[in-house]
Amino acid sequence: MKILFCSSEAFPFSKTGGLADMAAFLPKSLKKLGHEVRIITPYYPGIAKHHEAMKKLGSATITFGGLQTIVHYFMLEHDGIPYIFVQNMHYFERDQLYGYNDDAERFACFSYAVLEGMRAMEDYPQILHLNDWQTAMIPYLLDEHYRHRNDGYFSIHTLLTIHNLEYQGSFDPYVSRFFNTDFNYTYVHFDRVNFLKAGIERATKINTVSPTYQQEVMTLEHGFSLDGALEGRKDDFIGILNGIDESVFNPKTDHHLEKQYGVRDVKSGKRLNKEWILHHFDLDVDMAMPLVVYIGRLVSQKGINLMSRALEEVVEYGNARFILMGSGNDHYQDFFRYLAYKYPKKVAHYIGFNEAIAHKLYAAADIFLMPSRFEPCGLGQLIAMKYGALPVVRETGGLKDTVSPYNQFSGDGTGFSFANYDPYDFKEKLFEALSVYHEQKDVWDRIVRQAMKQDFSLDRMALSYEELYQTMLGV
Ligand code: ADP
Repeated sequence: MKILFCSSEAFPFSKTGGLADMAAFLPKSLKKLGHEVRIITPYYPGIAKHHEAMKKLGSATITFGGLQTIVHYFMLEHDGIPYIFVQNMHYFERDQLYGYNDDAERFACFSYAVLEGMRAMEDYPQILHLNDWQTAMIPYLLDEHYRHRNDGYFSIHTLLTIHNLEYQGSFDPYVSRFFNTDFNYTYVHFDRVNFLKAGIERATKINTVSPTYQQEVMTLEHGFSLDGALEGRKDDFIGILNGIDESVFNPKTDHHLEKQYGVRDVKSGKRLNKEWILHHFDLDVDMAMPLVVYIGRLVSQKGINLMSRALEEVVEYGNARFILMGSGNDHYQDFFRYLAYKYPKKVAHYIGFNEAIAHKLYAAADIFLMPSRFEPCGLGQLIAMKYGALPVVRETGGLKDTVSPYNQFSGDGTGFSFANYDPYDFKEKLFEALSVYHEQKDVWDRIVRQAMKQDFSLDRMALSYEELYQTMLGV
């Protein structure tokens, strides 16, 4: 199959979150299955250092909403996959990827550029795989302006993957002019223009990144007001669980670690990594204490509110060390600072994004916290399990699909989970995990082994996408 993967960020060239990882890992795994995959993404400033190695493929004039601009297409092969970078200095030469007043204009330009690029490069995919709101207007544009032009456009099938329904690309009504059509309810939602809704209405198929989240987003509680639109497409809407790249996240080969380890030597491996990190963060080094870690964005989605109401009691009375890492909301950062200031030998924090420290923390951790309010899939808990850190999670979205709760009767399980979004339940579960760690060492070791042996590989994920593409093509 011929697939074009469209993403507003793609690892290792640009990244703000899990989307960038997916944009690199899924195409790589699809290629292994024998498909022809290319990635198309904006040319941000950080990419310029690779410019010498790129090949120019062409240019196109983009006309939308009364504006006109030129984009250039550059190609660089990375990991065997052609990355096509869409260059437009005005829209993409910025310090950050998102967060500008003209984001609607920027990603409308990118969306037209994806479609115009096919004609400029005379290369049409069978599957156009779109991701999140930034590229979600493309199925509408394709239908309204391109399909009739030639056979290449006519036979394209579109898949829209929703990585997080909270982010919809919702803009003031004037943005409707960027669609280059008369006013149309396809992209209107509560008197605003909504890019994601255009994709939900018009894409051939839609998916999100875990089966439970797929069900949840069709409810009032988790639908962020698009539950009705998604429900309307439920026959074309499925959940496919994300995976992790085991060439990047594998404690046996991870070059960031003080000591690499596998299932068999997890205890000694973790010990060395933990000792190093406790010294590094200037915490009291007592190797009998489990290390509890949080790594993630500091936004309300992640359940930091629960932590801020429950964690201090666990710090005070539980026997453990804590390292809290993340960046985002100031208010949540202050909570981390407060705990670290009040309990300097027990709690440390790291505000900021640091890939190397994150890897070291996964390897050193015994317990990984992810009490999310909602979670489309979540990679943190998958990585934690792979590194033998048992997750304490709330049973929502992908967390429910990937962490099987420890059952004291059967001995099954790969972590600990609680159902209600309630600080008391979170605290109880964390105390229970600490108690198993301290008092039932054999049980703990068994759960760790069970967690590390889980298969969250990209190969499994790629096979599911392949099957979905085949359904779309009717093969
Ligand atoms: P989301 O995509 O909602 O941010 P995920 O759990 O799906 O959450 O993915 C988050 C990824 O980003 C994980 O790989 C996690 O390790 C990484 N990450 C999050 N915060 C940081 C940070 N401050 N430093 C380094 N890596 C981080």
